[in-house]
Amino acid sequence: MAQYHDAVCRHCRREGTKLFLKGEKCFTHCTLDRRATPPGMHTQVRRRKVSDYGIQLRAKQRARRIYFLLENQFARYVERASQMSGVTGLNLLRLLEMRLDNAVYRLGFASSRRDARQLVSHGHFAVNGRPVNISSFAVKNGDEIQVRDSSKKLERILNSVAASEHRIVPPWLSLDREALTGKIVGEPSRNDIDQTIQEQLIVEYYSR
Ligand code: SF4
Repeated sequence: MAQYHDAVCRHCRREGTKLFLKGEKCFTHCTLDRRATPPGMHTQVRRRKVSDYGIQLRAKQRARRIYFLLENQFARYVERASQMSGVTGLNLLRLLEMRLDNAVYRLGFASSRRDARQLVSHGHFAVNGRPVNISSFAVKNGDEIQVRDSSKKLERILNSVAASEHRIVPPWLSLDREALTGKIVGEPSRNDIDQTIQEQLIVEYYSR
């Protein structure tokens, strides 16, 4: 399976904003607070007018990095979203949100999407009672996500649950913290998804 190996803070520096890719560390020891310039040499002297293409490209890269996907994975989601009925941009965001790794992160069982992806691939979760280790698994309304019995004492998961108490669980999910289970109770609405993502620009990028 193809994997993302870049140092994650680079992505935030590239986008010039916090993408919260490292979980709780992002709130306490953020690299961007110390070093906000884009990666690479001479980046501080670059002052070019950004073209429409450049703006669309940045919007796409930003969303792709937030969901921690490779280019071809992201492009496949865009293609699928365009084949669905409804608004392509919202379809895309819903497909991304309803990945199992994202749902695990949103429920607070993992400190970041990256952490969630690793925990899912290591087999710590089940969906409707069946173990699932595919992070891209698409959850749907009515599905129940469980931390597997054998993983309920895993410190990494328990620490994430404790640290995420302040996080708001979006309305399309319901969480039982004691039982370490979550349920999909709807579909994400636009308001439930990162407001900084500019999905229309992403669709325009792929429509060129
Ligand atoms: Fe981004 Fe988190 Fe690194 Fe800060 S600590 S630059 S928010 S990944």
